[in-house]
Amino acid sequence: MKISVDLDLCQGHAVCQSEAPAVFAVPKRGQVEILDPSPGPEQREAVASAIRYCPTGALSRTDDETHHAAKGAR
Ligand code: SF4
Repeated sequence: MKISVDLDLCQGHAVCQSEAPAVFAVPKRGQVEILDPSPGPEQREAVASAIRYCPTGALSRTDDETHHAAKGAR
């Protein structure tokens, strides 16, 4: 999964940071910084919540299912 953010929309509400602190960091007065642009599956739920609850809809996620190899195949 890959995370992207539209900084034209981000207003620094930091909802994403509270949902997924391992992936998003938001400075006090600023916009979101993506700490981990391609987080592992263990972050999937947290990232989904961050995307869902971001009040401006600035976040999005791309799943590259085409490369969905079986666990441990690489
Ligand atoms: S929740 Fe949305 S608007 Fe708020 S900091 Fe995160 S990306 Fe920006």
